[in-house]
Amino acid sequence: MAILLYFKPYAAYRTRIPAMPEKFTVRAEHGTCHAVPMIPPAIGAPLGAASDMLARPLQDLRISLTDRCNFRCVYCMPEEFFNKDYEFLSRDALLNFEEITRIARIFVAHGVRKIRLTGGEPLLRKHIENLIEMLTQLKTPDGRDLDLALTTNGSLLAKKARSLKDAGLQRVTVSLDSLDDDTFRRMNGVDFPVAQVLRGLEVAHAVGFGPIKLNMVVKRGMNDQEIVPMARHFKGTPFILRFIEYMDVGASNDWKMDEVVPSSEVVERIAAHMPLEAIEPNHAGETAERWRYADGSGEIGVVSSVTQSFCRDCTRARLSTEGVLYTCLFAANGHDLRALLRGGNTDQEIAAATSHLWRARTDRYSELRSASTPGTASAARKIEMSYIGG
Ligand code: SAM
Ligand code: SF4
Ligand code: SF4
Repeated sequence: MAILLYFKPYAAYRTRIPAMPEKFTVRAEHGTCHAVPMIPPAIGAPLGAASDMLARPLQDLRISLTDRCNFRCVYCMPEEFFNKDYEFLSRDALLNFEEITRIARIFVAHGVRKIRLTGGEPLLRKHIENLIEMLTQLKTPDGRDLDLALTTNGSLLAKKARSLKDAGLQRVTVSLDSLDDDTFRRMNGVDFPVAQVLRGLEVAHAVGFGPIKLNMVVKRGMNDQEIVPMARHFKGTPFILRFIEYMDVGASNDWKMDEVVPSSEVVERIAAHMPLEAIEPNHAGETAERWRYADGSGEIGVVSSVTQSFCRDCTRARLSTEGVLYTCLFAANGHDLRALLRGGNTDQEIAAATSHLWRARTDRYSELRSASTPGTASAARKIEMSYIGG
């Protein structure tokens, strides 16, 4: 149920970073609080390179296209919580494709080079190809194409890979937690067969996506026995497997630190069978640490979101399905850009408000978590991954 709380306008908001926004919307089911961003008094054209309080540029935007999913992964949307009583967003709450493209254009003017479409399951969003076509028209201030990518659970990829490619999508990342059918069915929570995702990978490769990254979230006691078989299966193939530490995101997955398999252990387990060497990142701010097989047959990645934070280089903003901007995956509060879009504001006003938000950003949740809470993290006010977009 959505609860609306109104506050009196903060008198001085036009002269400094607001301490108290005018209106909050608290969505109890998502455990988050949205504030309508202020439009600062001085509205200039975006400079193409917004930097936050910790000198991190705004370079990536993740856009969630739906909070719904056909899977119920145990670490993301456990069935006990996301069942028939769960209230998903209504259709008119979602940003439409014109609104998404408008926000994307504003972010690109601020320096965003990379846009990732996510969710929920983004391939459930009807006519997603039309949105991809619209986004591929956008150019960076220096005239380059955007790097446009999508993360999917792969269940609909065999059906959709061709149309996604034709629409102009450049890259896909596919989540795949196990090759063992029983384990895969148990982890996705809906008894979905792994063969269908593997078929999706084949088709995506055949239509020209590549290299395709595969994300395996490792949960101890659930699929950690699959680390070595997965590595062996994809070694020497065009797919790049990445092992993701199970994160304390959201409040529904009952996260415990002892269920996290540290990346160092993942590397050790694989290297015991297939020797590995560390390699340089592709670019600054890359979330995955790269390792290559000593025999030259490809590489793997490890994403150590829990044991080794990478907040220092975090250049990512996230836009929820209903147009709420989050400057951190673990942020308790979001900024309601939809209210600005639908409130008749100009692009310049929205651009000024978003750059103001980014410039005030100080988020570094993972760093603080690693420093202070080696045990369990507080579940208070954490946003579900399926809502904010992974
Ligand atoms: N449904 C799509 C998918 O699964 O690829 C896109 C959305 S999903 C939220 C994006 C990514 O977040 C997936 O790779 C998923 O494995 C990852 N993810 C979800 N919950 C997670 C958690 N608790 N810890 C680590 N990764 C998680
Ligand atoms: Fe769905 Fe992706 Fe979350 Fe799994 S990880 S429940 S596929 S949104
Ligand atoms: Fe970025 Fe927040 Fe994750 Fe740190 S915790 S890397 S700031 S999203």
